[in-house]
Amino acid sequence: MEYLAHAGINNFMKGMATVNPYFDDLQCQPEVVIPPQNEDCTDIGEHMNDPVQQTSKSNVTVSSSVRELLECPVCLNAMYPPIHQCSNGHTLCSSCKPRVHNRCPTCRHELGNIRCLALEKVAASLELPCKYQSFGCIGIIPYYSKLKHESQCSFRPYNCPYAGSECTVIGDIPYLVAHLKDDHKVDMHVGSTFNHRYVKSNPHEVENATWMLTVFSCFGQYFCLHFEAFQLGVAPVYIAFLRFMGDDETAKNFSYSLEVGGNGRKLIWQGVPRSIRDSHRKVRDSFDGLIIQRNMSLFFSGGDRKELKLRVTGRIWKEQ
Ligand SMILES: [Zn+2]
Ligand SMILES: [Zn+2]
Ligand SMILES: [Zn+2]
Ligand SMILES: [Zn+2]
Repeated sequence: MEYLAHAGINNFMKGMATVNPYFDDLQCQPEVVIPPQNEDCTDIGEHMNDPVQQTSKSNVTVSSSVRELLECPVCLNAMYPPIHQCSNGHTLCSSCKPRVHNRCPTCRHELGNIRCLALEKVAASLELPCKYQSFGCIGIIPYYSKLKHESQCSFRPYNCPYAGSECTVIGDIPYLVAHLKDDHKVDMHVGSTFNHRYVKSNPHEVENATWMLTVFSCFGQYFCLHFEAFQLGVAPVYIAFLRFMGDDETAKNFSYSLEVGGNGRKLIWQGVPRSIRDSHRKVRDSFDGLIIQRNMSLFFSGGDRKELKLRVTGRIWKEQ
């Protein structure tokens, strides 16, 4: 069992190292405006300070027309340096520029390599509310930090943690709990200990399967217990793991254990629930849970090994 636990943790660490590939190549610092000759260097370091703290700068009243000016006419996304323009002054974002074959999409004139520094500077002076304002974020964010803030905003909604189907519902935790209950009909369970039996009549037929999610409410929080069948290399295995309905920081305050056994043998897993910010697939693929070989599972199930009847017991606790 030791080796399983270590494999899980190593993979978990690897997962952590690659967790935030997000905005490496996206934005520039507003103060650093590079001349057009150097426009290859678009990925200069971004704001390292917490953008929400920096609200003291001149507060430009943002009329919607200024925001429209900063919208790329092709992809309709907000533009970030380098912002390009044609000789007639029509603007274009840097990801659309290579796609328009050197023709201005507005007037069809040759596009050339003209940078729109004025607009870049106007953008640098803007401060806008976070797009998750309606979820409770009160941050007013400098234009060039906005994407980065929003990618990490603690008020950003969560994806539905249900694993059985591709569900696109997003929302805050209370909303998702109600959604899991009403729309996915998941088992809701109050308390921090559990004893579940996972049953499957033809276990040899399934390579990949997910069982009904169970949601636990304890310590004023919600946790999702997942149980899935998948292939680990060539070996058919089952994995059970817990995810926390909340952010990663809070998830780390909790631990859980899972225990499965039969016929005098027992496997025990102790772990830290992963935030539902990490998809169930990501957690599964990092093996951050109790992994049971199918043969062992059938042995635990007793009987003639034709049926899976796996009893998983567990406990969630709060770390001091
Ligand atoms: Zn564009
Ligand atoms: Zn033009
Ligand atoms: Zn925010
Ligand atoms: Zn859902």
